[in-house]
Amino acid sequence: MANAVHHVNCGTMCPAGGRWLGDPQAGWGRGKMVAHCLLVETERDGLVVVDTGFGSRQVDGRDPIERMFKVLGAPILDPSETVAARVRALGFSAKDVRHIVVTHLDFDHAGGIGDFPEATIHVHAREHAAAMARSSWKERSRYAPALWAHGPKWQVYSEDGDTWRGLPAITKLRGVEADIGLLPMHGHSRGHSAVLVKAEDEWLVHAGDAYFHHHTLNGEPVPKGFVAFEAMVQMDGPQRRASAAALRELHERYEDVRVFCSHDPSELPA
Ligand SMILES: [Zn+2]
Repeated sequence: MANAVHHVNCGTMCPAGGRWLGDPQAGWGRGKMVAHCLLVETERDGLVVVDTGFGSRQVDGRDPIERMFKVLGAPILDPSETVAARVRALGFSAKDVRHIVVTHLDFDHAGGIGDFPEATIHVHAREHAAAMARSSWKERSRYAPALWAHGPKWQVYSEDGDTWRGLPAITKLRGVEADIGLLPMHGHSRGHSAVLVKAEDEWLVHAGDAYFHHHTLNGEPVPKGFVAFEAMVQMDGPQRRASAAALRELHERYEDVRVFCSHDPSELPA
């Protein structure tokens, strides 16, 4: 059964050095990035949220946002852009959200999970373990324990021999009937995964932060600012490059597969 999918932006950012991010119009001023999230209307599982951008507790300052990121990424933190506000705008309530699937647990992707304290959070096991352990300097800055201080129900997954289009995948989430799954795309963080969603006549592949600019998919040069940023925040370079190559191949090979990432505004349908 196909799902009805809404694409929403749950966090506008205006990073410095727009031109280095592929926006010649921005000159040396600020560019624009989004936090591309999905609200998936399913037949039996309520409204499933894919990635949560910034949450209302971050917008009003109760939950932290990493200091360096605040300066460089310059998030706008607009209350009307939180995933909770997007859910309400569609006519649903927070209680309708029983399942959240996240590409990874960075503070700009897991920011909104506290807005749905009853929801089960589905994530790759390696990502969950990394976020709980915070065992390196990089991981202490990217993972904010305040975001899961409410003690959400977690469902974690590892590759188990299942495949999708030839790639290792988790195609069945526990307690979810809808066609939604995880496609491990590690490297940006240890357990980073794309999220698969069956829509009307295509498969959506929400690639999270596996890449940052649409040129990654067509092989054109990626703006220098993103190349530097991807290398700076990655946990495993070879894995990250292999993930990007796998996504590019999906994009090239299959007509019925639509790949997009979290932060490229040109990939967010109007
Ligand atoms: Zn991100």
